[in-house]
Amino acid sequence: MVPQTGNDKDNQNGNPEGNGRATTAEGVMRGTAVSPGIGRGTAFVLACSVGAPALRREIAAGEVSDELGRFDAALGRAEKELLALKKAVGDSVGPSEGDIFAAQALVVRDPMLRNQVSALVGDQRINVESAVAEVVQRFTRAFDDIPDPYLRERAADIRDVGRRVLSALVDDNEQLEVPEGAVVIADELLPSVTARLDLAGVSALVSEHGGRFSHTSILARSQGTPAVVGIAGATQAIKTGDRLIVDGIAGAIFINPPRAVEREYERLEIDFRADKDKLRELVDLPAVTADGTAIGLFANASKLADTEAALLYKAEGIGLYRTEFGYSIRSALPTEDEQFEFLERAAARLHPRRIVFRLLDVGGDKQLPYFPLPAARNPSLAARGIRLLLKHPALLRRQLRAFLRVSANHPVSVLLPVVGGIEEVRQTRQIIREVQGELAAAGQAFDPKIPIGAMIEIPAAVLIARQLAEEVDFFSLGTNDLVQYVLAADREDETVAPYYQPLHPAVLRLVDSLANVARETGRPLTICGDIAGDPLYTELLLGLGLRALSVAPGEILAVKHRIRKTALGEARAFAERALALGSASEVEGLVAERQRAFLAGSS
Ligand code: PEP
Ligand code: MG
Repeated sequence: MVPQTGNDKDNQNGNPEGNGRATTAEGVMRGTAVSPGIGRGTAFVLACSVGAPALRREIAAGEVSDELGRFDAALGRAEKELLALKKAVGDSVGPSEGDIFAAQALVVRDPMLRNQVSALVGDQRINVESAVAEVVQRFTRAFDDIPDPYLRERAADIRDVGRRVLSALVDDNEQLEVPEGAVVIADELLPSVTARLDLAGVSALVSEHGGRFSHTSILARSQGTPAVVGIAGATQAIKTGDRLIVDGIAGAIFINPPRAVEREYERLEIDFRADKDKLRELVDLPAVTADGTAIGLFANASKLADTEAALLYKAEGIGLYRTEFGYSIRSALPTEDEQFEFLERAAARLHPRRIVFRLLDVGGDKQLPYFPLPAARNPSLAARGIRLLLKHPALLRRQLRAFLRVSANHPVSVLLPVVGGIEEVRQTRQIIREVQGELAAAGQAFDPKIPIGAMIEIPAAVLIARQLAEEVDFFSLGTNDLVQYVLAADREDETVAPYYQPLHPAVLRLVDSLANVARETGRPLTICGDIAGDPLYTELLLGLGLRALSVAPGEILAVKHRIRKTALGEARAFAERALALGSASEVEGLVAERQRAFLAGSS
C-alpha cells in the first residue's frame, strides 16, 4: 500500500449533487454519502486493492508442495492477525465492529478457499499469489450479482481477506502512516486498512468502491469520520497533496475548491460547532418571547449539508434555500432532473417542515462562470433575480418544474428574488400556471396551491407592499440587498462600506412599514437578511414588528436566547425610540446601551 502521486487529472471529474455520473463541474465528484459530516484536508491517496492481478508465475511440479506450504503459513498468519484485530477493534470501537474481523477469520478458514487455491496451484502449476487473486475474483464476482446491497457488500470482506493473505505471502507488514488531518482516498477501503488507520487523525475517507453497508462505512459511522464511497476514478482524479472538501452529507467531494466553496464550508463548520457551546440546552425550548408570543425561527440554507445543521438546532423549517450554490458548483446549467434530485433530497430530509426554495438569483454580486452576463456599468442595478430569469424563460421554467415536482411530496414554497413590482410577480405566476399545466398533462404530481412569495429587497417593493400583498402569499425581507439599495452603497464595495448601514433609520422605517402591511394584509413575513442572525438586533427587529426570522443554522440558539429574554412591549418602545432617530450612529448607540443593560441583567 503506497501513497500515489502524479496522475492524470484531465478527465475524471464528477457530478456534485446528481447521481454518480462521472461528468460535469471541474473539481467536483459525487458518490454515496455513507458517514455524515464535513471533512476538509489534504488528500492522501492509497492503493490497496486485490483488483490488480498478482504477478503470475509458472511453477515446476516439484514446487507445488512448497507453494501450498507457503499458502498454509499465510492463512495461519492472516487468521492470527484477524483475531488480534477483532480484539483491538472490539476494545476500542465496539464488539459488533470487532466481529467484522471474526467473520473474516471464518472466510480464511473456509475449506472452499483452501481447496480452490490448492487445485489451481496443483492443476495449473501457477504460483499461489496468482491463484489467490483468481479465486478471490471468482468469489466476489458471484457476490456482485446478488441484488441485496448488504450481501453484495460482503464481497469487500472477501477481497479484504484476499488482500490480507497476499500481504501475508510477501511478508508485507506495512504500517499506514497518514499525515494528521489527511483525507484518505483509496480504490477500496478494506476493513483491514481502515482498522490500521488512526481514524481520529483522519478528516474523511473517500473510496471508489463500497456502499452504505460495507464494513468500512459502518466503522466510519461509528467513529464519526465523514465518508463518501462510490466515486469512480477518485484515485486517478485526485493526487496526494490536493486540497479536498468532503461533504459526507450530500456525497460530494471538492478537489482544490475555489475560495467561495471553501467559505461555504467554513461557515457550515462554524454552524456545527455552535452546537457545543452552552446554549445547547435551548435546543428543545420554544422560541417564545418573555411575554409568551411564539416567534418563527427558521434556517437559511444553500446546500443539502445545511439542512443537517438546521435539523440539529431544530429549526422550524428552511426559511430561505438559496439555490445558487447548486448552480455555481457545476460547469453547466443543471438539468431539471439534477435540480429535482438535490432539492428533493433536501426537502425529504426536512419533511414535514417547510422549505422555501428561492428562484435563482444571479446578477449583481452573484455570477455563474458559464452564464456570462452582459457587461454592466453597475451590475447591482442591471438585470438580476427575477428580472433576469424572466429574460431567460427556459431557465426559469426548468427550475420551476423541479420545484413543483418536489412539491408533490413535501411542503415547498417558491420565493421570487429581487422583486421590484407587481408585473414581475404576475408574469412569473403566469409561467407557473403554464408549467403546472404541462406537468399535469404529463401526469406529474405537484402542489397546485404552492405558496408564492416575494423577496422584499428593493425599497420600491416596500413602498408598494400593500399592492404586492394581493399578488403573493408571503413576504421575505432581504435586508442584505435592501440596505444597499436604500442607502446607495454597494454591499461588496469596500470603499462605500461605511455607508452600508443596516441600522440606518431609513432602513428601520422601511422594515417597520413592511411589518405593518404584512400584519394588516395577513401575509406572513420572514426576515432572512444577515441582521436577523445577530442577537444584538433581535429585540429591535421584534420591536419593529417582525415575528419570523430565518438565520444561519449556527445562529439559531443565540437568537432564540434573545427572543426568550425579550418582552414585546418593551421591544416596541425601544424600536420607537430608534425610529425617531436621525442617523445610524445614533441607533447604534441606542443598541449598544441596550446591550450593556442586557448583559448586566443576565450576569
Ligand atoms: C438578502 O438580500 O438579504 C438576502 C437574504 O439574499 P442574498 O443575501 O442572497 O442576496
Ligand atoms: Mg438578496
